[in-house]
Amino acid sequence: MTTSRIAGFYNLPLGERLDKLAKSTGFALDELAAFHSSGLTADQANHMVENSIGTFNLPLGLGLNFVVNGREVLIPMAIEEPSVVAGASFMAKLARTGGGFTVTTSAPEMIGQIQVLDVKDLMKASMELYEHKAELLAEVNSIDPVLKKFGGGARDLEVRIIEESPIGSFLVVHLIYDVRDAMGANAVNTACEKLALPIELITGGRVHLRILSNLADHRLVKASCTVLLKELAFTSADGRAFTGEQVRDRIIEAWAFAAADPYRAATHNKGIMNGVDAVVIATGNDWRAIEAGAHAYASRDGRYTSLSTWGKDLDGNLSGQLEMPMTVGIIGGATKVHPTAKAALRLMGVKTAAELASIIASVGLAQNLAALRALATEGIQLGHMSLHARQVAIAAGATGMQIDEVAAHMVAEKTIRIDKAEEILKEMK
Ligand code: NAD
Repeated sequence: MTTSRIAGFYNLPLGERLDKLAKSTGFALDELAAFHSSGLTADQANHMVENSIGTFNLPLGLGLNFVVNGREVLIPMAIEEPSVVAGASFMAKLARTGGGFTVTTSAPEMIGQIQVLDVKDLMKASMELYEHKAELLAEVNSIDPVLKKFGGGARDLEVRIIEESPIGSFLVVHLIYDVRDAMGANAVNTACEKLALPIELITGGRVHLRILSNLADHRLVKASCTVLLKELAFTSADGRAFTGEQVRDRIIEAWAFAAADPYRAATHNKGIMNGVDAVVIATGNDWRAIEAGAHAYASRDGRYTSLSTWGKDLDGNLSGQLEMPMTVGIIGGATKVHPTAKAALRLMGVKTAAELASIIASVGLAQNLAALRALATEGIQLGHMSLHARQVAIAAGATGMQIDEVAAHMVAEKTIRIDKAEEILKEMK
């Protein structure tokens, strides 16, 4: 792909956007076909969940302007909330002149947990487990030749003693398992089950739970971006002029609130997840796993805090970082089954799970910046409400041309409510 900037994409009629996308990327139109249908057929869905009665669609928007580790990338985002796609794309545009997003990922190592009960001497059993570590890891590595072929496999074993719990003390064995390009839940769970018997024989205890942990703190992604001061200066829709320095400092002040206060941090991180989840869902990945991991990681020091940090660099530019677990795959789960997910991965040119994780973290950081910038300057409602007004207009029964007309009326009158939309519609009729 030559560029992720497609000028005027927003203003194109719906029916022309896929043509434009095909022309800009060189993809054939039928390769993008999964984007304008539900993608998943009822028959495919029937093979995925129990008692299937159909499918559920979400809007799919295109995140523009992203440069991730020097690569231009167009990003499909599945989300029902207005402003997210526009906000992330706009912030990606501001970040471009600072070099876009730079992202590093750790090895794709997941944690599998094995709970061991009824152990007589916890310390002695821990030591014995460490003594048998090499053979336990070898046992795991015999299970999945495919994963091994791709360079994955068991990496380490850690033993923890849980001193206090409602049932007293017990042992937990952590299997550190490199799952390469898979999300890894099935691979890890299979490995944990395989270890149950040898661990019972070594410890003399009773293995109870064998399941991966979603607090995947070995599988981290770190995204950063720099926004030049000149990109931050702007005049808000209500006519207030802000200098770059003012916007930067206000964003840092807004972030400091989230860094210090869990009530604010929850909403701050929700903004990050607006961007993250939209790409996770569009690629058929497990967003509950990502959510669970993100919020557990945000609490890792005993107090829930911001997943991102914002400050200024040596030149005074705004600098942001996002660090979080990112357990996404491009193999397994729905990623290889859902036609839209397959098309999304193809469009982004993603070849590894690490590449996908890097893109997702960049969108999370961009979306975090969009929310902070709006909150710290003109307020979230001014920009958000004009888009929200269209949804309210549809809910009130507006169709076709009426939608924009009713929405514009409500925005002009600064009253965006369903009863107002119904009143305007009535007057129009
Ligand atoms: P999977 O088992 O379908 O695929 C992984 C397997 O693919 C590997 O074990 C390997 O044999 C093979 N493979 C082929 N090429 C590979 C490559 N390049 N890299 C790595 N493996 C390769 O999928 P999974 O990722 O183990 O499981 C993901 C699914 O598990 C998701 O749908 C998730 O919703 C679900 N799940 C999640 C949880 C949880 O989060 N707590 C628990 C259970 C299941």
